[in-house]
Amino acid sequence: MPQMHPHPDVDRVLLDEQQIRERVAELGKQIAEDYADEPPILVGVLRGAVMVMADLARQIDLKVEMDWMAVSSYGSGTKSSGVVRILKDLSGDISGRKVLIVEDIIDSGLTLKWLLSNLRSRGPKSVEIATLLRKPEAARVEIDVKYVGFDIPNEFVIGYGLDFAENYRNLPYVGVLSRSVYED
Ligand code: 5GP
Ligand code: MG
Ligand code: MG
Repeated sequence: MPQMHPHPDVDRVLLDEQQIRERVAELGKQIAEDYADEPPILVGVLRGAVMVMADLARQIDLKVEMDWMAVSSYGSGTKSSGVVRILKDLSGDISGRKVLIVEDIIDSGLTLKWLLSNLRSRGPKSVEIATLLRKPEAARVEIDVKYVGFDIPNEFVIGYGLDFAENYRNLPYVGVLSRSVYED
Protein backbone atom coordinates (compact mmCIF):
# COMPACT_ATOMS: atom_id res chain seq x y z
CA MET A 1 0.00 0.00 0.00
CA PRO A 2 1.43 3.43 -0.86
CA GLN A 3 2.49 5.42 2.20
CA MET A 4 1.59 9.11 2.35
CA HIS A 5 4.56 11.44 2.45
CA PRO A 6 5.60 11.68 6.07
CA HIS A 7 4.84 14.94 7.81
CA PRO A 8 7.75 17.42 7.49
CA ASP A 9 8.23 17.35 11.29
CA VAL A 10 8.78 13.59 11.16
CA ASP A 11 12.41 12.52 10.99
CA ARG A 12 11.53 9.01 9.88
CA VAL A 13 8.62 6.59 9.94
CA LEU A 14 9.20 3.86 12.51
CA LEU A 15 6.04 1.81 11.99
CA ASP A 16 3.81 2.25 8.98
CA GLU A 17 0.07 1.66 8.83
CA GLN A 18 0.36 -1.89 7.60
CA GLN A 19 2.85 -2.93 10.27
CA ILE A 20 0.61 -1.48 12.96
CA ARG A 21 -2.52 -3.08 11.52
CA GLU A 22 -0.92 -6.52 11.31
CA ARG A 23 0.52 -6.44 14.81
CA VAL A 24 -2.68 -5.10 16.36
CA ALA A 25 -4.60 -7.92 14.68
CA GLU A 26 -2.20 -10.47 16.18
CA LEU A 27 -2.59 -8.98 19.63
CA GLY A 28 -6.38 -8.94 19.29
CA LYS A 29 -6.44 -12.59 18.34
CA GLN A 30 -4.20 -13.51 21.26
CA ILE A 31 -6.33 -11.52 23.68
CA ALA A 32 -9.53 -13.13 22.39
CA GLU A 33 -8.01 -16.57 23.04
CA ASP A 34 -6.71 -15.67 26.48
CA TYR A 35 -10.01 -14.16 27.61
CA ALA A 36 -12.39 -16.57 25.90
CA ASP A 37 -13.81 -17.72 29.26
CA GLU A 38 -14.46 -14.26 30.64
CA PRO A 39 -14.18 -11.13 28.48
CA PRO A 40 -12.30 -8.19 29.99
CA ILE A 41 -13.13 -4.56 30.48
CA LEU A 42 -10.70 -2.68 28.28
CA VAL A 43 -9.44 0.43 30.04
CA GLY A 44 -7.98 2.89 27.58
CA VAL A 45 -5.66 5.56 28.90
CA LEU A 46 -6.58 8.89 27.35
CA ARG A 47 -5.62 10.51 25.20
CA GLY A 48 -2.79 8.58 23.58
CA ALA A 49 -4.47 5.18 23.57
CA VAL A 50 -7.49 6.27 21.53
CA MET A 51 -6.18 4.90 18.23
CA VAL A 52 -4.86 1.62 19.57
CA MET A 53 -8.02 1.10 21.64
CA ALA A 54 -10.25 1.66 18.61
CA ASP A 55 -8.26 -0.67 16.40
CA LEU A 56 -7.43 -3.31 18.99
CA ALA A 57 -10.99 -3.57 20.32
CA ARG A 58 -12.23 -4.31 16.80
CA GLN A 59 -9.76 -7.17 16.54
CA ILE A 60 -10.94 -8.84 19.75
CA ASP A 61 -13.76 -11.15 18.82
CA LEU A 62 -15.41 -11.09 22.25
CA LYS A 63 -18.12 -9.08 24.03
CA VAL A 64 -15.71 -6.58 25.60
CA GLU A 65 -16.61 -3.43 27.47
CA MET A 66 -14.60 -0.27 26.98
CA ASP A 67 -13.93 2.35 29.62
CA TRP A 68 -11.48 5.23 29.82
CA MET A 69 -9.21 6.97 32.24
CA ALA A 70 -7.27 10.14 31.75
CA VAL A 71 -4.12 10.67 33.74
CA SER A 72 -1.43 13.28 33.40
CA SER A 73 2.22 12.38 33.51
CA TYR A 74 3.90 14.35 30.79
CA GLY A 75 3.29 18.03 30.29
CA SER A 76 3.64 19.42 26.83
CA GLY A 77 7.33 18.49 26.71
CA THR A 78 9.12 15.24 26.11
CA LYS A 79 10.33 14.37 29.64
CA SER A 80 8.41 12.38 32.25
CA SER A 81 7.50 14.42 35.31
CA GLY A 82 6.84 11.37 37.46
CA VAL A 83 3.76 13.11 38.81
CA VAL A 84 0.48 11.35 38.03
CA ARG A 85 -2.96 12.88 38.48
CA ILE A 86 -6.38 11.50 37.58
CA LEU A 87 -8.01 13.90 35.13
CA LYS A 88 -10.90 11.56 34.35
CA ASP A 89 -11.80 8.44 36.29
CA LEU A 90 -13.45 5.26 35.02
CA SER A 91 -17.18 5.51 34.41
CA GLY A 92 -17.87 1.98 35.65
CA ASP A 93 -17.06 -0.37 38.52
CA ILE A 94 -14.26 -2.89 37.97
CA SER A 95 -14.54 -4.88 41.20
CA GLY A 96 -14.59 -8.61 40.50
CA ARG A 97 -13.87 -7.99 36.83
CA LYS A 98 -10.98 -8.80 34.54
CA VAL A 99 -9.32 -5.56 33.45
CA LEU A 100 -7.04 -5.06 30.49
CA ILE A 101 -5.30 -1.70 30.44
CA VAL A 102 -4.72 -0.43 26.90
CA GLU A 103 -1.76 1.92 26.57
CA ASP A 104 -0.07 3.70 23.72
CA ILE A 105 3.47 3.58 25.06
CA ILE A 106 5.46 2.64 28.13
CA ASP A 107 8.54 4.76 28.59
CA SER A 108 9.73 5.09 32.20
CA GLY A 109 6.80 2.96 33.32
CA LEU A 110 6.00 5.45 36.09
CA THR A 111 2.50 6.17 34.86
CA LEU A 112 1.63 2.52 34.53
CA LYS A 113 3.08 1.55 37.86
CA TRP A 114 0.88 4.11 39.51
CA LEU A 115 -2.15 3.14 37.44
CA LEU A 116 -1.73 -0.54 38.27
CA SER A 117 -1.79 0.02 42.01
CA ASN A 118 -4.69 2.43 41.66
CA LEU A 119 -6.79 -0.07 39.70
CA ARG A 120 -5.77 -3.01 41.89
CA SER A 121 -7.05 -1.19 44.96
CA ARG A 122 -10.55 -1.38 43.46
CA GLY A 123 -10.73 -5.17 43.79
CA PRO A 124 -10.67 -6.41 40.18
CA LYS A 125 -10.30 -10.11 39.48
CA SER A 126 -7.19 -9.40 37.41
CA VAL A 127 -5.34 -6.51 35.80
CA GLU A 128 -3.19 -6.99 32.72
CA ILE A 129 -1.57 -4.56 30.31
CA ALA A 130 -1.57 -4.25 26.55
CA THR A 131 0.66 -1.57 25.05
CA LEU A 132 1.33 -0.76 21.45
CA LEU A 133 4.86 0.48 22.12
CA ARG A 134 7.52 -0.08 24.74
CA LYS A 135 10.81 1.74 25.16
CA PRO A 136 13.98 0.21 26.63
CA GLU A 137 13.69 2.19 29.89
CA ALA A 138 10.49 0.30 30.66
CA ALA A 139 12.44 -2.94 31.04
CA ARG A 140 13.98 -1.52 34.23
CA VAL A 141 10.62 -1.19 35.94
CA GLU A 142 9.17 -4.31 37.46
CA ILE A 143 5.94 -4.37 35.53
CA ASP A 144 4.71 -7.50 33.86
CA VAL A 145 3.35 -6.34 30.52
CA LYS A 146 1.38 -9.18 28.97
CA TYR A 147 0.88 -7.77 25.47
CA VAL A 148 3.48 -5.62 23.70
CA GLY A 149 3.06 -4.50 20.12
CA PHE A 150 6.57 -3.29 19.42
CA ASP A 151 9.76 -2.63 21.34
CA ILE A 152 11.14 0.61 19.95
CA PRO A 153 14.37 2.62 20.35
CA ASN A 154 14.65 5.34 22.96
CA GLU A 155 13.46 8.21 20.80
CA PHE A 156 10.49 10.54 21.07
CA VAL A 157 7.78 9.26 18.77
CA ILE A 158 4.53 10.77 17.54
CA GLY A 159 1.49 9.65 15.61
CA TYR A 160 -1.19 6.95 15.95
CA GLY A 161 -2.46 8.67 19.10
CA LEU A 162 0.88 9.95 20.38
CA ASP A 163 1.32 13.70 20.60
CA PHE A 164 3.86 16.42 20.94
CA ALA A 165 2.17 19.45 22.54
CA GLU A 166 -1.19 17.91 21.53
CA ASN A 167 -0.31 17.77 17.86
CA TYR A 168 0.38 14.88 15.47
CA ARG A 169 -1.99 12.40 17.16
CA ASN A 170 -3.83 11.91 13.88
CA LEU A 171 -0.82 10.75 11.88
CA PRO A 172 -1.69 7.21 10.78
CA TYR A 173 1.85 5.92 11.39
CA VAL A 174 4.35 6.10 14.25
CA GLY A 175 7.29 8.36 13.49
CA VAL A 176 10.28 9.89 15.21
CA LEU A 177 9.77 13.60 15.86
CA SER A 178 12.51 15.74 14.34
CA ARG A 179 14.69 17.17 17.05
CA SER A 180 14.51 20.55 15.35
CA VAL A 181 10.87 20.77 16.44
CA TYR A 182 11.71 20.81 20.17
CA GLU A 183 15.35 21.88 20.31
CA ASP A 184 16.79 25.28 19.49
P1 5GP B 1 5.98 6.83 31.25
O1 5GP B 1 5.30 7.19 32.54
O2 5GP B 1 5.98 5.35 30.97
O3 5GP B 1 7.37 7.41 31.19
O4 5GP B 1 5.22 7.57 30.08
C1 5GP B 1 3.85 7.58 30.04
C2 5GP B 1 3.29 8.50 29.01
O5 5GP B 1 4.25 9.42 28.52
C3 5GP B 1 2.79 7.79 27.78
O6 5GP B 1 1.51 7.24 27.97
C4 5GP B 1 2.81 8.90 26.77
O7 5GP B 1 1.66 9.69 26.90
C5 5GP B 1 4.04 9.70 27.18
N1 5GP B 1 5.21 9.29 26.37
C6 5GP B 1 6.26 8.53 26.73
N2 5GP B 1 7.13 8.38 25.71
C7 5GP B 1 6.61 9.07 24.68
C8 5GP B 1 7.03 9.29 23.31
O8 5GP B 1 8.06 8.82 22.81
N3 5GP B 1 6.21 10.06 22.55
C9 5GP B 1 5.06 10.60 23.02
N4 5GP B 1 4.34 11.33 22.18
N5 5GP B 1 4.63 10.40 24.28
C10 5GP B 1 5.40 9.65 25.10
MG1 MG C 1 -0.41 6.56 27.47
MG1 MG D 1 1.45 13.30 25.48
